[in-house]
Amino acid sequence: MSKTAASESQFERMEKIVSLAKRRGFIFQSSEIYGGIGGFWDYGPLGAELKRNLRETWWRAMTRDRDDVVGLDATIILHPAVWKASGHVDTFADMMRECTITNKRVRADHVDQQSGSVIRYTGAKAPNGWSNDRQITVLMKQGEHIESFRKRVRLLLTQNAGVAAGKPEEIELVGEERIKVVECSVDFHPETGGLLNEARPFNLMLKTYIGPTATEEDIAYLRPETAQAIFAQFKNVCDSSRVKVPFGIGQIGKAFRNEVTPKNFTFRSREFEQMELEFFIKPDEAVQLIHGSVAVWSEAADLSTPQPNWGWEMWHRYWVTERTAYYARIGLGSEVLDYIWQTKADLAHYARACVDILFKFPFGTEELEGIAARGSFDLTQHQTHSGKQLEYFDEELKTACDKLTNEEKSSFIAAAFEKRFNPATTLEETALFCEKLFKGLYIPHVIEPSAGLDRLALAILSAAFEEELVTDDKGKSETRTVLHFHPRIAPIKVGIFPLLKNKPELVSKAREIVALLRPHMAVFYDETGAIGRRYRRQDEAGTPFGVTIDFETLGEEKPEFKDTVTLRERDSMQQRRIGVTELLPFLLGKIL
Ligand code: ATP
Repeated sequence: MSKTAASESQFERMEKIVSLAKRRGFIFQSSEIYGGIGGFWDYGPLGAELKRNLRETWWRAMTRDRDDVVGLDATIILHPAVWKASGHVDTFADMMRECTITNKRVRADHVDQQSGSVIRYTGAKAPNGWSNDRQITVLMKQGEHIESFRKRVRLLLTQNAGVAAGKPEEIELVGEERIKVVECSVDFHPETGGLLNEARPFNLMLKTYIGPTATEEDIAYLRPETAQAIFAQFKNVCDSSRVKVPFGIGQIGKAFRNEVTPKNFTFRSREFEQMELEFFIKPDEAVQLIHGSVAVWSEAADLSTPQPNWGWEMWHRYWVTERTAYYARIGLGSEVLDYIWQTKADLAHYARACVDILFKFPFGTEELEGIAARGSFDLTQHQTHSGKQLEYFDEELKTACDKLTNEEKSSFIAAAFEKRFNPATTLEETALFCEKLFKGLYIPHVIEPSAGLDRLALAILSAAFEEELVTDDKGKSETRTVLHFHPRIAPIKVGIFPLLKNKPELVSKAREIVALLRPHMAVFYDETGAIGRRYRRQDEAGTPFGVTIDFETLGEEKPEFKDTVTLRERDSMQQRRIGVTELLPFLLGKIL
């Protein structure tokens, strides 16, 4: 969901980020030597490290550092029935429109408003005998000259017809008519200006075939999200680990979507990585039965430590707070984030709440992560479709319910019916659900924080990028390009530079320091060029620290400086001397 559009200078900023990303080996177009492939991107040496660090921070924060979350690493291709049960086969579609001249597709909700004159031709023909007898309707944009417009239409026709139409300049446009003037219309393709046809659903799942026969029965899908494998393995995880609701299962992995219009660099790709957590909680009714009441959210609620009497809303708010704190820890503070709470009308029928965490990208404020309270929808679907019991037995609930009298149970059912989430739920269904609760059984509800790793990497690059004017000691000004990555996620943590490469004592000391630090962090050794140039190269790579080994390190002139080095901090560019023995603890303190 987008909140703001980008200004001219923001587009320039984006271009600079894309160019730096390529120049410094963060992100390349996939298969570039063959002209690239739309919506697919590769991560170069620095990008691979950055992504790895981001993945690691998520995994630690969401699984390893917590008692209540475990991990999963499932396959990309699942049984096709999973996607039938989840609703993806039937409904995972974007509405799409096609340009009536070039057949170029665009997502119906991605068509920008355009103004101008609508020009229609009854057809077109070429001296080589080629002709087009269909109506051609194109928007002549405000300010566009009629001659350049006609040239553009001829080009569009050849784009579609290829060599058959001959040379674009020889095409004759027949029966030109100016139909009307339109303001802010969304009926023309944003690039071609050609009239768009009616919107139709376009399923985003990428198909493949399993086995050698490649028939309809062999169709399988590349997963469009990582979440469904978590639901499909819910029972196995419960049976094999000592987890107790509330608990979560986290997963990081590739996802694939045949996006109609991949755009904004890696922001909307066709192959990308997701980092998803399914956090399973007790239904509010179970919390009520165990604790006598359910803690609901208010502005004053303390979300710092989960409590046993929390209802879904407290858990949902808790995860929004946790995720926000996570982003702050890797350098994305509140000044670059925003939130959109979906209204009831926007929510899926089963969802109770959903918030998008947005990042202020140069091209607009756009979704980075969605956090949804999805009720028991997913596990219920898989239970129905697989025929396998996915109910959870809650000992604590059973013990609490064993103490209830029949009258208390009846009045609980009546109250649950009054408070039901879905007005279509019948009294019989409510009674059945409560009877299960009395036996300690329920299908857990779920809170789903779902983030994109590639979008996060792009957000991190965008937030870190700066061009600043710096003046050296001699008063000379120049532009310094710097990536202000938080040390925790920087691809390289420290650059090691012997002052001169032709002084063996300096080089061997520098190599010693590399050997000291390398087991603990990514280190880059550089001995070529002037020291200032070496610093600048690391600034562009976002390396937070630089260590220079100079003659003072050797203690030849000033023995008191023996075994000290110059430590330069990227952001302030300040330099100070630090003992070699202090280096490792200092750097570890910054990157952990
Ligand atoms: P959008 O509205 O931008 O299409 P979505 O709401 O469909 O995204 P979800 O299905 O909620 O996205 O996926 C969770 C996260 O996965 C998103 O917040 C985003 O970070 C990431 N993601 C989804 N689609 C893509 C994509 N095509 N390219 C890169 N990341 C994506």
